[in-house]
Amino acid sequence: MLNLNDADLIVVGAGFYGMTIAERAAADGFRVVVTEKRNHIGGNAYTYNDAGTGVEIHKYGPHLFHTNSKEVFDYLSRFTEWLPYEHRTWTTSGGRIYPMPINLATICSFVGRAMSPSEARTWVADNAREVTEPTNLEEKAISLIGRPLYEAFIRGYTIKQWQADPKLLSAEIITRLPVRYNFDNRYFNDIYQYMPKNGYTAIFEQMSLSNQISVHLGVDWFEARPAKTTVPIVYTGPIDRYFNYRLGPLGWRTIDLELETHTGDFQGCPVMNYADIDVPWTRISEFKHFQPQRSYGPNTVIAREFSRSAGLGDEPYYPINLADDRARYDAYRALGDVETDVIFGGRLGTYRYLDMHQAIGAALKTWANQIRPRLTQGAPLGRSED
Ligand SMILES: Cc1cc2nc3c(=O)[nH]c(=O)nc-3n(C[C@H](O)[C@H](O)[C@H](O)COP(=O)(O)OP(=O)(O)OC[C@H]3O[C@@H](n4cnc5c(N)ncnc54)[C@H](O)[C@@H]3O)c2cc1C
Repeated sequence: MLNLNDADLIVVGAGFYGMTIAERAAADGFRVVVTEKRNHIGGNAYTYNDAGTGVEIHKYGPHLFHTNSKEVFDYLSRFTEWLPYEHRTWTTSGGRIYPMPINLATICSFVGRAMSPSEARTWVADNAREVTEPTNLEEKAISLIGRPLYEAFIRGYTIKQWQADPKLLSAEIITRLPVRYNFDNRYFNDIYQYMPKNGYTAIFEQMSLSNQISVHLGVDWFEARPAKTTVPIVYTGPIDRYFNYRLGPLGWRTIDLELETHTGDFQGCPVMNYADIDVPWTRISEFKHFQPQRSYGPNTVIAREFSRSAGLGDEPYYPINLADDRARYDAYRALGDVETDVIFGGRLGTYRYLDMHQAIGAALKTWANQIRPRLTQGAPLGRSED
């Protein structure tokens, strides 16, 4: 059992959402207790240095920091120096390699001739005309980018991600498929794009060290919590778990990562997607390319990524978020509203895909608008954010 007698605030989960709120509260002099069920801080952004090669590994898949928010960038910059890094991705399809997301270079290379932006636009629009009223994911994708690009780059990848024929998947899964009619092959357009100089874990260590936050690792809240507490709680675990799955589990996809060590440069880029259905993995990340400024030894570490739907014991990664899940989440949220001294936050607590900058931005807002007023004036916490 945790000793919470002296705590002003309890935070469940030491990912970016929970640790941002914990750090802000501790910086204002409040006594914060963080419980984290894993044996490390950092949530899904956790990184560590591989003992054999010295290569920095992103344990839960590659994490690239990007944001347009000066507030979030300035906030994180208190805890880290940065290395400039603009992410670029390639895809292997039919034995050839193309830049992703689909841009003018991808289209020219795929069609096999030089095209101007307007020629490429017309070529895509002519192919997309085949479907005007899409009823499933395949038809939706064809209506957006046409059949040739869909079959080369989207179909096989989607089957591997969802383990289902795209004809049987709902059209609502995709609203847009970005196509750039220029040669900009950066993955993100944001103003701030960097990698933390010493990895993400060092950011979390600085956050907790700066104000002596008491972080209890390997402590699952549901096993450690007291029968009753009057201390306000920020809960960043899965919302369905909080209510013991009483309305059924929410749907998530998970990924399996298989690490391998090789000599030299394995693939010449940070991330290579595999669009063909006969290759079982969706992509391979080669970690040392995320920090080209660092010098590494002769070896390299890669992660092959396999996607599947999550069972109850699996790590939840991406919300499936179909109509059934939305309805179930709304019902859990209504239960959450009854818990007046608990904020449900972060990607698991709000059943949303959140980039790191969005999780941090949301946490800063919740701290300023809800938790700080609760701690300083005893104001009601109010609803968790949508
Ligand atoms: C494969 C993948 C790649 C990604 N790549 C990027 C990227 O390139 N750029 C980007 O900006 N974002 C990326 N993200 C998103 C990023 O991981 C999230 O923004 C971030 O994890 C959100 O932080 P969080 O605190 O909400 O959740 P989390 O990081 O998941 O933290 C929640 C924590 O709560 C803990 N917890 C849960 N239940 C309990 C409990 N009962 N008791 C105690 N602790 C508990 C968990 O163990 C976890 O550590 C990626 C996500 C995935 C899945």
